[in-house]
Amino acid sequence: MTAAAIRGRVLSVASEAVPLVKTGGLADVAGALPGALTAQGWQVRTLLPAYRGLVAQLGQATEVWRSADLFGGPARVLAGTVDGDAVLLVDAPHLYDRAGGPYAADGRDHPDNPERFAALSWVAAELARGEGQDGWHADVLHAHDWQGGLAPTYLRMAEANVRSVLTVHNIAFQGIVPPNRLAALRLRPDDYHQGYLEYWGNISTLKAGLIAADAITTVSPTYADEIMRPEFGMGLEGVIAFRARAVQGILNGVDGTIWDPEHDPAIKAFSAARPAAKAENRARLIAEFGLADIAGPLAVIVSRMTHQKGIDLLADAIPSFVAQGGGLAVLGSGDPWLEEMMHGLAARLPGKVAVRIGYDEMLSHRMFAGADAVLVPSRFEPCGLTQMYGLRYGAVPVVAATGGLNDTVIPASPAALAAGAATGIAFHPVDALSLSQALRRLVQLYADRPAWTALQKRAMKADLGWAVAASAYSRLYDSLLAR
Ligand code: ADP
Repeated sequence: MTAAAIRGRVLSVASEAVPLVKTGGLADVAGALPGALTAQGWQVRTLLPAYRGLVAQLGQATEVWRSADLFGGPARVLAGTVDGDAVLLVDAPHLYDRAGGPYAADGRDHPDNPERFAALSWVAAELARGEGQDGWHADVLHAHDWQGGLAPTYLRMAEANVRSVLTVHNIAFQGIVPPNRLAALRLRPDDYHQGYLEYWGNISTLKAGLIAADAITTVSPTYADEIMRPEFGMGLEGVIAFRARAVQGILNGVDGTIWDPEHDPAIKAFSAARPAAKAENRARLIAEFGLADIAGPLAVIVSRMTHQKGIDLLADAIPSFVAQGGGLAVLGSGDPWLEEMMHGLAARLPGKVAVRIGYDEMLSHRMFAGADAVLVPSRFEPCGLTQMYGLRYGAVPVVAATGGLNDTVIPASPAALAAGAATGIAFHPVDALSLSQALRRLVQLYADRPAWTALQKRAMKADLGWAVAASAYSRLYDSLLAR
């Protein structure tokens, strides 16, 4: 594309992005959206921290920015490409070159996380306003979650002519920092008040972004509405309501280059038109998890094991599901008491329930491919991705009717079934009784072979590509640039 044809320049700043580093859905989004935006005419660069080992994955890299003191040590930004996307890494060993994950080591958060991600946001603002050695500047700085939350604030402090967007992937993580770190984060004492940086006696980098960004997005329309209520806003509902006119929900897509049952090296290929091999994937999955024969639906869960995800509801709901012929394979890790609970459930229902504790991307592909259903009983879910992978792979989603789950699954009500529109099963309220009832409906539907096959096919044909979301972001960027 020639320079003249570029619709605008976008700098995306995130703490994780596929394929370089992933702990959750944010990485899927930050990794897939740039390509979809590029296809619609935007020039996109993605800025990430150079966590240990990442620089080597950048290939031929050039330095585009340097500083003798980035929050306590020397730093530079290296530019390269990963899978065809322009990626910038903040190489600051004192902040990012360490053992453990992006946020924690040995189960404990890195104590300097506020500085680590303030530094990332600082560099984002610098590059966006053209302070890099290559003179590149952004028209739009697109920040993600609390880790990018200070980027719009730093732009504002510099009075930069760059529009900003903050995407909230999960409002539960708010970037809370004690106020005595204000100067360390290069923030202004004058901005520390209730209407801006202050949040219940602390700084919140997410709130800072919610106030300072020109536009706010969340990853589903339902979640955008929900976070204006105390049950979902988690203390920030007032701020969201205050900025209501700047808030919109844009549903995530699925990266079809990674999640496509017709071209997935991890599984035996199948599709809606040629579903036969799905049965072989199911048999392999049963064998891999050491399950006995499962006469009814085989369900899977791939999830962080936390209260948010409703994992605790399984203890009461699964025994009756198993009694009706169902089986369950679970992959995840998280809160130790939930891991224990799942081990206990598997021990009580041998051959019918099996659990793998850990993180295993390839296994997750085999699970969606082999499953009849994927369970997502989340108490809140900004968007949720596993129900979409389930749709793609013919694992019918059984979901709590909340957030993005509500926006991606057409529940099998009698009306939706009669209209030939249903793609899954939804339940509300989010409790064990509702989940049990949903699982009973799953068993009944599964037993009605023609209805089940039709449901599964429709699920696989749902349009989940990134193009729709990229169009919505494009319209948002256009509207900001027209201001
Ligand atoms: P969240 O971001 O809240 O964890 P999402 O559903 O939006 O939830 O995204 C979770 C992502 O992480 C999905 O891509 C899911 O497949 C993946 N995932 C979660 N747990 C595991 C695991 N134990 N092994 C492999 N992939 C996992």
